[in-house]
Amino acid sequence: MAFFEMVKTALKTVVSRPATILYPYQPAKKTSLTRGHVTIDESRCISCGTCQRKCPAQAIVISKEAKTWQIDRLRCVVCNSCVDTCPVKCLFMDTQYSPPVTARSVEIIAITYVKPLKVEKTADKPEKKEEPGK
Ligand code: SF4
Ligand code: SF4
Repeated sequence: MAFFEMVKTALKTVVSRPATILYPYQPAKKTSLTRGHVTIDESRCISCGTCQRKCPAQAIVISKEAKTWQIDRLRCVVCNSCVDTCPVKCLFMDTQYSPPVTARSVEIIAITYVKPLKVEKTADKPEKKEEPGK
């Protein structure tokens, strides 16, 4: 019986349309939940480094000295972890896929210059009073 099931599946596969498309020659199907590529609103980034620490692929590198946020799109596995954990919600998942490439090049690594926001202190430390006789 398994043989007939296999023949049935094989014949069905031969006469039906392919389950895949010829991307990028044919446009990919997308929904609002499609994970294309990570983007950043660099004006809101506070350079906290959370996205770098949470990235399982080590695709994000932040330099506080150079004030840069960079992502290696060939390393990124589009897991959405950085978007979910950014404390100021300045990372977004764009539904547009990155263009296909055949070799690693500098264009693959997107570098953004950020201006880290200053974190304002909420409470001042109480001033020390000098004790008499000291
Ligand atoms: S993108 Fe978000 S998580 Fe990453 S350093 Fe900037 S503020 Fe922090
Ligand atoms: S989507 Fe995932 S793999 Fe890609 S940069 Fe964010 S955390 Fe890293």
